[in-house]
Amino acid sequence: MNPGARIVILGKQGAGKGTQAVRLSRHYVVPHVATGDIFRASVRSGSEFGQKAKKYLDAGELVPDEVVIGMVRERLSQSDAMHRGFILDGFPRTVGQAEALMGFLEPEPLDVVINLEIATGEVLGRLASRRVCSDCGANYSVADNPPRVSGICDVCGGDVVQRDDDTESAIRRRLELYERETAPLIEWFEKRSLLATIAGAGAPDEVTDRLVAEVDGRRQLRRS
Ligand code: AMP
Repeated sequence: MNPGARIVILGKQGAGKGTQAVRLSRHYVVPHVATGDIFRASVRSGSEFGQKAKKYLDAGELVPDEVVIGMVRERLSQSDAMHRGFILDGFPRTVGQAEALMGFLEPEPLDVVINLEIATGEVLGRLASRRVCSDCGANYSVADNPPRVSGICDVCGGDVVQRDDDTESAIRRRLELYERETAPLIEWFEKRSLLATIAGAGAPDEVTDRLVAEVDGRRQLRRS
């Protein structure tokens, strides 16, 4: 039996987190819990919660901690995540969120926190060519990984579009907030011996191989 996994993936916007998280979720048969995808789905549904979230998303601002923490706690308490584990993508993004996460995961720790590293110079080009499926969240790039049929998702047949927050000003704001709020988490998790920094450059398959080798190595260490 595949034993599942409990993984957090950190990285700058455009590092390839979403793409790699989907691959890891298939490999370890665990749910891919992507807070950005959950917010975008709420915005599309037109719910009151979605309408409130939209103003943060469009401006590239962070949704307040208490809202995100409550949402993730609820998702991780569902049976798939409780039994198999999860890959958390886009959470935590602040030290407050990391503290809350470690609290509600007790007593079972994380396997690893991956810091997917990418040079800042590469990020803007990647974000400009990024496209996502508006239904399932699959990621594409018009530069080097377009859907087989233009505008149609290979995975689910949904519409492949540019994200509303992939505008110049929202990208700039998100990168600023990453440096200010999220980058400190790298040291925070390192101090707790949970961090693994992996190069995000190269072909997606190569990056996935590096990630799987790291996660498997960590799990073996924990079991020994
Ligand atoms: P992402 O798809 O991860 O880039 O997230 C898109 C947007 O959703 C972010 O720019 C924030 O507005 C919001 N968001 C996602 N995750 C979080 C989080 N952990 N904390 C606060 N806001 C978040």
